Amino acid sequence: MQLAARMDHIGTETAFEAAAKARALAAGGRDIVGLHIGEPDFDTPPNVVEVAHRALADGHTHYAPPVGVPAFREAIAADFSRRHDVEVSPDHVVVTPGAKPIMAFTMMALVEPGDEVIVPDPGFPIYESMARFTGATPVPIPLRPENDFRLDLDELRALVSPRTRVLVLNSPHNPSGAVLKQTDIEGIASIAMANDLVVLADEIYSRILYEGEHYSMLEVEGMAERTIVLDGLSKTYAMTGWRLGWGILPPPLVPAFERLLINTVSCTATYAQLAGAEALDGPQDAVDAMVAEFRARRARIIDGLNALPGVTAPMPAGAFYAFPDVSGTGMNGATLAERLLEEAGVCVLAGTAFGGVATDRLRVSYANSTANLRLALERMAAFLAAAADR
Ligand code: PMP
Repeated sequence: MQLAARMDHIGTETAFEAAAKARALAAGGRDIVGLHIGEPDFDTPPNVVEVAHRALADGHTHYAPPVGVPAFREAIAADFSRRHDVEVSPDHVVVTPGAKPIMAFTMMALVEPGDEVIVPDPGFPIYESMARFTGATPVPIPLRPENDFRLDLDELRALVSPRTRVLVLNSPHNPSGAVLKQTDIEGIASIAMANDLVVLADEIYSRILYEGEHYSMLEVEGMAERTIVLDGLSKTYAMTGWRLGWGILPPPLVPAFERLLINTVSCTATYAQLAGAEALDGPQDAVDAMVAEFRARRARIIDGLNALPGVTAPMPAGAFYAFPDVSGTGMNGATLAERLLEEAGVCVLAGTAFGGVATDRLRVSYANSTANLRLALERMAAFLAAAADR
């Protein structure tokens, strides 16, 4: 079958491909420890599940307004306003099935063929994929270990051209765990304002932060009219399968995103949104407990990785990923990731799943049980010892 030419320009998310490969190996009887996907291993908090049950029993089984159920939009605006030094109106919140569609909608609504979109490299692969799919040219900005994987403002200034429309930021950052400082965000904001850029601020890991408070691009004076905040419940509340995300948008984008919703999915599941409101409005002790657990696992995985021969792992400040340099093993990230899966039964991602720059890195998700992390580290140690002997 002949596919439309545009399909040549859409990428993918390697994590899902790795997951399929790991599942196939497991189905064939192999024992695989999967540290490849950014998915908390915890259960959704029980109060949230209970509200979903009740919502279904109460008949909340029909279409919702395309931009979201009012109670959920209000909960999102209130939650953001509570956690930041800026007041957000529910009218500017648009709910989507997971946060990912906000990436697609941003590009669909804003870029013309030939426009440029600056994306972090390494970075979540869908930014680049959707920029390309909509005819734009993704312009990677390298995030370097010597700058703690924070983007460099001079480099950003140099990359902005008259065709640049959108700048994508992600802090805390997947895959490196880096967190932008307030001064970085303010500097980036002034570049965005000087060059009339829209900032897509992916803040989905804003609650998974190990030091300090999250500072949002939306808090910078003057940025509300040019910032799209992307967030969702997948990571913070262990709700990846519920598909609940949102954008906080400049007002003129709300009807545009509404039309994109009407043309694609109509709306996000109604009963799920009611449960989503409970997640944000209800007790937050489950989130605190999960973040405390991630913090403990972070210490273990970073210690364990640094104890492996040829591996150096910086301490991430947020999210739940380790991003070790493996060049000392004599293998690049792609080779090591492949061999770990085939020969050691450990599934991790190569740094190159996130762009072209991080060739010597692996991304190791520690959103997994302590027992699995220990097992993965033991297997990696045995594999590297055997590889060194050969
Ligand atoms: N942004 C980043 C940086 C992510 O890592 C992810 C999930 N891996 C998402 C957005 C999308 O999350 P979801 O669609 O599940 O809300």
